[in-house]
Amino acid sequence: MTTGICRLCGEHKKLSFEHIPPRSAFNDHQRVFQTIEDRLLKNRSHSKFRRGLGKVTLCESCNSNTGSWYGEAFVNWTKQGFEWFNKIGEGALINLPYNIKPLNVLKQTLVMALAMAPEGSLNYHEDLRRFVLCKKLKYCPPHYRVHVYFCKGGQPRFSSGMAIMKVGVGGGASYIEGEIALPPFGYSITTPFGSHRSLADVENLCEITWFAKYNYDEKRNIYLQIPIRETHEPFPLDYRSTEDMEKHRRKR
Ligand SMILES: [Zn+2]
Repeated sequence: MTTGICRLCGEHKKLSFEHIPPRSAFNDHQRVFQTIEDRLLKNRSHSKFRRGLGKVTLCESCNSNTGSWYGEAFVNWTKQGFEWFNKIGEGALINLPYNIKPLNVLKQTLVMALAMAPEGSLNYHEDLRRFVLCKKLKYCPPHYRVHVYFCKGGQPRFSSGMAIMKVGVGGGASYIEGEIALPPFGYSITTPFGSHRSLADVENLCEITWFAKYNYDEKRNIYLQIPIRETHEPFPLDYRSTEDMEKHRRKR
């Protein structure tokens, strides 16, 4: 049995395995790939996620509450994403319709980011934790930005808690709260530094933070222009294709 601080309610309790994304959003079987910790800290070739991607970080009641509030809407959105994912070609960037519950979908992505966060960051996310623990609350706390992309090509991505700066043309600087990529979608949750642009904007990902203006359980027809990205490396916001990486290697 694992006990620890629940990343949502902040209480010291018995913790349970949280599927990130939810199990029925195509996250129900073993995945083996290299995470950022494997690469940078553990010098290891891969991690094995036996039951699907996830972490033991939420208490049972937060796990089941958020699951029942947001899970179904998130799975529904993921299924619609998969239908488009199988139809769209390489590089297509068109407006596609989704019939979804936007606030529920957004809150599930934020639960995912919080569930991945290190224990020490709990105080920092107080507003965000309150936002997801009160299902009817609208309007995301300022600073947090959520973006989405289709992940076609590459491996899953599961990373959290790092700061990235990019200077120069279109430069920005962000703290990466989390990036989770598992087909069909990849999500990037960032908090830009000061007046800097979010790096997810610089990468032209599709922002969905505005989903927070809808009511809980409100269903809407929404058109989104979601770009296609490849995730070959474990690093957040790195969408180089194998071709790009080959070019880079040759230059060096
Ligand atoms: Zn809890």
